[in-house]
Amino acid sequence: MSSRIISRASYFLIITFIIFISEWHNMSQSRAVAQTFSALETLEGAGVRLRRVFGYSQVPLFDPFLMLDDFRAERPGDYINGFPWHPHRGIETVTYMLEGRVEHGDSMGHKGDVNAGGIQWMTAGSGIIHQEMPKPVNGRMGGFQLWVNLPKSHKMMAPRYQEISAEKIPVVAVKENVSVRVICGTIAGISGPVRNIVADPEYLDISLGPGVEFTYPVRPGYMAAAYVTGGSGKFDAAGTDELENRTIALFESRGTSVMITAGRRGVKFLYFSGKPIREPVAWGGPIVMNTEAELQQAFDEYQNGTFIRKNGEVS
Ligand code: MN
Repeated sequence: MSSRIISRASYFLIITFIIFISEWHNMSQSRAVAQTFSALETLEGAGVRLRRVFGYSQVPLFDPFLMLDDFRAERPGDYINGFPWHPHRGIETVTYMLEGRVEHGDSMGHKGDVNAGGIQWMTAGSGIIHQEMPKPVNGRMGGFQLWVNLPKSHKMMAPRYQEISAEKIPVVAVKENVSVRVICGTIAGISGPVRNIVADPEYLDISLGPGVEFTYPVRPGYMAAAYVTGGSGKFDAAGTDELENRTIALFESRGTSVMITAGRRGVKFLYFSGKPIREPVAWGGPIVMNTEAELQQAFDEYQNGTFIRKNGEVS
């Protein structure tokens, strides 16, 4: 009788152990690539020819991110007309320059340049009206703009800028042939200069040498994606094809890390992750709210000149 109880007890223990190990394995596995997208040429602003990596038609796949534009360009004619005066509300726009510069000015008298290697993390919140004009330096211009959504609780927050020049962005040599520019987030104990963003994002510019394998943790439940900006590489362990320049990999939500293996020429990519907001999205051009009524209100205010809140206050 007693030996039978013990054997039942050990049977139970073994099953529990197997369940525990398989759960642990699932939890600790690296994420597979769920989907890939190629950036598509599109016209924006006053006729800027750029490549949209993802946007309106992908909502809510990349939540908390809404859009990524790649405006690397060879010909000034493709970008020189820029993005003249336009409003934003309910989002953050993040401009990251590799070459050239973007002249920026807004309706509150704020002026400045985003220069090569620098970043402007602009929280539009309740509203700004601005213009962004790309300019070549030594004939070169190129950069990216990422849109980060704001949750209902923060859509009408006071507008804010975090402007960071190239030399203030740390470059971390994680190991041999792995170099990471930390715009936002923490890697190997070193934090990027952009702080206190609601979606708790990470934004890293990563370079891997030829054949290098790189594993990086992702917080449970956070969305993660990688956009290739040079070379090629594999973005999961599943033996999928190498992804090339101007392709984005969206990782599955299951798993606690990503694993990237550089191809023969090495690979460069922008990596970003963030906490999904999971709220309704009402998106009209440069304004992203939760409801159609809020969108309509924003456009009415833009028309009648009450769009900008004094001192960021909601009137
Ligand atoms: Mn803008």
